Amino acid sequence: MSTNYNLASAIHRHGLQTPDAVAVAYKGQSVSYRELAERAARLAQELRQSGHWSADDGQPPRVGILASRGIDACVALLGACWAGASYVPIGLKLPEERILTILSLCKLTAIVADADGVKLLSERVRAACPPLVICTASDPDAALAKPGESPAAAPGGGSSSPQGLAAPEPMAAGDVAYIIFTSGTTGVPKGVMISAAAARHYAQMIARHLDLRATDRALETCELTFDFSVHNMFSTWEAGAALHILPATVVMNAVKFVRNAQLTVWNSVPSLVGMLRQVKTLHADSLKDLRVTVFGGEALPEGTVAAWRVAAPNTAIFNLYGPTEATVFCLGQAVEHDTAITAGRDFIAIGTPLPGNEAMIVDGHKQVLANGEAGELAVAGVQLADGYLNEPQLTAERFPTINGKRWYLTGDLASVDAAGTFHCLGRIDNQVKVLGYRVELEEIDAHLRAVSGIDLVGAVAWPTVDGMARGIVGFVAASSLDSVQVIRDLKARLPAYMVPNQLVALASMPLNQSGKVDRQALRKRLEQDPL
Ligand code: AMP
Repeated sequence: MSTNYNLASAIHRHGLQTPDAVAVAYKGQSVSYRELAERAARLAQELRQSGHWSADDGQPPRVGILASRGIDACVALLGACWAGASYVPIGLKLPEERILTILSLCKLTAIVADADGVKLLSERVRAACPPLVICTASDPDAALAKPGESPAAAPGGGSSSPQGLAAPEPMAAGDVAYIIFTSGTTGVPKGVMISAAAARHYAQMIARHLDLRATDRALETCELTFDFSVHNMFSTWEAGAALHILPATVVMNAVKFVRNAQLTVWNSVPSLVGMLRQVKTLHADSLKDLRVTVFGGEALPEGTVAAWRVAAPNTAIFNLYGPTEATVFCLGQAVEHDTAITAGRDFIAIGTPLPGNEAMIVDGHKQVLANGEAGELAVAGVQLADGYLNEPQLTAERFPTINGKRWYLTGDLASVDAAGTFHCLGRIDNQVKVLGYRVELEEIDAHLRAVSGIDLVGAVAWPTVDGMARGIVGFVAASSLDSVQVIRDLKARLPAYMVPNQLVALASMPLNQSGKVDRQALRKRLEQDPL
């Protein structure tokens, strides 16, 4: 029998084997594996039975997920998977322009929205949507009260047994499981296409690697648009454990949330811990129930680990590294007391390739470098993305064949020490992480140029706390600037975390030797004279 790579298979399996175990909990409500399987299967049936279900390029149909953080969002995403579709998360925090850009970039067969997602279906967005739009809200009346046109509401609860449900549609290894959009240097986001084989390998490999168990209760801190959510959902569900979603409104009370729900697995970017330390909610022994902690998505400061050990004395701590283009995390290590620190940066080293992955350091000519030499980190293996949606040239550039094997050039400057441990030394380009979000500074530049009408502009990640960016400052070559208007215009185009908190008009913009805006000089200026 051929393998079904459908990501929803784990839910189907646990729906049959442990039907009453909690699969997802959110704001005092929870759904069992049986209920989740039933709701996803019914949504899949509705999608497939509509007259609009089609795909025209040999790939699965694509379903946009206009939902986040909640049981309905999980149903939306799993229903799309169950139907045999590639799911495409569309953030709820995106301005209308950005949603329209994403809709225009990928031809969707359907959109599934939760109650908050439905509110984003303005007339312009509706006009750009495919004909098939379904709402998964448990209370569809509430969800549909607002907009003029009513998307069909997916059937809610019911009593059919999972034994009676159709299994998730077969998906082949090479079918695209999901497409996640990340910041693109040209001003347009790029869609990273991850195959079903890569996603399934990741879920199975990482659940085993972290020794996740059916008795675990794991924390979800991420939006669906960030591929860390793939880790949170599918590693938890692979193990038959319960996913507890942190409501966006209580992020700063994450410690209390985790303690009250007696969670055993913590998943977050290190920045979240930095913020919890800042608001002083991280007390000694406050997280005694935690047995597994996953930090990933950005550099892990030594100080964060030290504070975490005091707050959560019984947990194993993992530092996981990876770009979206290599399916969530592809390198990592358990952080022990003697774990290597990256010299001069006070960050924890990123470890060694996880099972199924490979890594090496190359120079600008794609020649492999020896241990100790700094160069670009390249990764390979089963988790590599198929490439960027509709971007064959960029795909060829970033996923070159080196010595007969396909690699992804991460853009991270890195080296390997004598013990074979990889160290991340920063970026070789202008990509930054702002509170864990991946941002290409050139993308902000492109929009800043467009709205200000000024060519010479430069965005800088600022301020930086514990080596982590907390915001953006934009510089514009001008003697004066209507900052309020420019920021308002940027908010209409970019997600909030990409909008500069401040704009500075500079009569003379510093340029580097190649005549480009000198971001180093702009950063130095901020260090010497913080705003
Ligand atoms: P994303 O595609 O959003 O996951 O961002 C990937 C980038 O985040 C990587 O290329 C690194 O620059 C950075 N990153 C992710 N995890 C780590 C980590 N554990 N340590 C250092 N940098 C990281």
